[in-house]
Amino acid sequence: MTAAEVRARLADAAILLDFDGSLAPIVERPEAARPLREAPDVLRGLRPRVRRLAIVTGRPAAFVEALLPGIEVVGLYGTEGAPDVDQAVREEVAGLAGGEPGATLEDKGTAVAVHVRGAADPEAAAAGLRGPLARIAAAAGLRLLEGKRVLELAAPGSDKGVVVRRLAEGAEAVAFAGDDLADLAAFDELGRQAGSGLAVCRIAVGGPETPEEVLVAADLVVDGPEGLLDLLASW
Ligand SMILES: [Mg+2]
Repeated sequence: MTAAEVRARLADAAILLDFDGSLAPIVERPEAARPLREAPDVLRGLRPRVRRLAIVTGRPAAFVEALLPGIEVVGLYGTEGAPDVDQAVREEVAGLAGGEPGATLEDKGTAVAVHVRGAADPEAAAAGLRGPLARIAAAAGLRLLEGKRVLELAAPGSDKGVVVRRLAEGAEAVAFAGDDLADLAAFDELGRQAGSGLAVCRIAVGGPETPEEVLVAADLVVDGPEGLLDLLASW
């Protein structure tokens, strides 16, 4: 499938976009992430011309809504409203993060993430945390999600594929853009939708850290958030 097929059905299309690494460059501290300066204008220009425009993110929705006012945001992989991660689990994860130099904790309520970007050797830090976090997740009935320099315990029951299925209802075309492993669930869902006759376009936002699996699964690779905005602006 191609971007042109989605563009030809733009008025009936759902345009669904990841945030970090897709609209906002990856930064050292997750709280410092900001969309590219042109993003609000490009999104506001596109919104009235499509059936649906939404951000699908692992962040709490409020974080992204504050940066992109007026744009629909589905946060926390669609698990917003799920019960918060148990306090004892959060403390256990905080203890693990505290024992790994350079690792930082991001408590999202219904999810808790350990970022290893600040570690001297992020790969080694992730490798050291993976086993213990997987055991905590299994014991607590949570999922362990892994992305670029981050390991995250999240409530089960939703992922970006589930969100995309819901947001694409009634659309004749769907485009989804993302840059990380959690976006593969959305790509998989688009693959299924394509089988039932929808025009779909899976867009990988390429960058130095974009996993090979994401690039391979995409119909189109754009060059960083700038490349994604250029594509959206051309629609
Ligand atoms: Mg991302």
